[in-house]
Amino acid sequence: MLYLDYAATTPPYPEVIDAVREVMASYYGNPSSIHRVGIEAERLVIQSRETIANLLRVKPGEIVFTSCGTESNNLAIKGAALAAGKGKHLITTPIEHASVSEAMRQLERQGYRLTVVPVDESGAVRLDKLKEALCDDTILVSVMHVNNEMGRIQPIAEVARMLKAYPKALLHVDAVQGVGKLPVFPAELGVDLLSASAHKFRGPKGVGFLYRREGVRLEPLLAGGGQEHGARSGTENVPLIVGMAKALRMATSRLDEAIRRKEAFRRIVADGIGHIPGLQLTGPADGTGMAPHIVHLTYPGMKSEVVVHALEKRGMYISTRSACSSGEEKPSTTLEAMGFDRSRAVSGLRISYPEDYTEEDARRFVAALAETALELRPMLQQVRTGRRS
Ligand code: PLP
Repeated sequence: MLYLDYAATTPPYPEVIDAVREVMASYYGNPSSIHRVGIEAERLVIQSRETIANLLRVKPGEIVFTSCGTESNNLAIKGAALAAGKGKHLITTPIEHASVSEAMRQLERQGYRLTVVPVDESGAVRLDKLKEALCDDTILVSVMHVNNEMGRIQPIAEVARMLKAYPKALLHVDAVQGVGKLPVFPAELGVDLLSASAHKFRGPKGVGFLYRREGVRLEPLLAGGGQEHGARSGTENVPLIVGMAKALRMATSRLDEAIRRKEAFRRIVADGIGHIPGLQLTGPADGTGMAPHIVHLTYPGMKSEVVVHALEKRGMYISTRSACSSGEEKPSTTLEAMGFDRSRAVSGLRISYPEDYTEEDARRFVAALAETALELRPMLQQVRTGRRS
């Protein structure tokens, strides 16, 4: 069995599971309680906040704990938009996670003006178009760090530099697929708001954080007791917060080595894909501009679900993004935004993996993929000639 869907979610580190269990059992106090039991729990939250802040090279007061990446994105986008006032201008890209794009659409329905800036054929946001879209009324630009579907790294530093000429415009980065996998230092990048989620870096599910640069105003989405410096009310999830801090420390402790190992894995898979008839690697073979932990490919004319299930029979678990509704294939909006035709946009496949998988694992996967592609070729003919069963 080879689980190759780390971009969907990851198994928590055993040490994280132990830490969460211990905190649940022994530190059950409410961090807002003023007695010893509460203060012990509060201390753990403070320590976790400091750990995460140190790893990101930001101030502890700039970390807001949330329940997930989806919440971090919603808080950043809606919180910033509501704080700025109705009717203002927002900018995003067509390849964002639904928790960004749908939050933007909600605001658009409420009277905000929204510009969706296109991406180029490599999946990178068009900086020339972004420049054209920016205006004095722009209050928020949201551009993701690593795309969750095909792994393109976005030019965040360039976007941040461009925004310097627009002091009212905040930059939000959905870094859910980048934090713990690549160096991410929001203050050095010039980012105002940055989202992360623990389950993507071997922490627990149901916990995340939002980096909010000191001084950035957000209207809270959850009204209540005023926890998290008023940005996010609700009793802190102490065990999961501790687990998240531990996971981030472990994930980033030998980051260079982890990236090198993932790049080696990526090279073997990318090279293998290049040698399998019918398959097309997304992005350059040498991985320039792509995240080291994601490989994306298409099998034009083949529904991606069919490949996923055929690989599953061989014990390989990969992912597709083209959601299947009532048996009808829906093209991926991300791949369409990159200019892929329909036959490619319905056939996207994502392989994502950790640093501890070996080069032998990569070769095993390539062999399974080659067998699968060959086995499915007759179906490809049917799709191409329109004779579907
Ligand atoms: N943003 C990106 C880029 C993601 O890949 C995901 C998860 O798939 C999310 C946000 C949402 O994170 P969560 O599952 O913690 O809500």
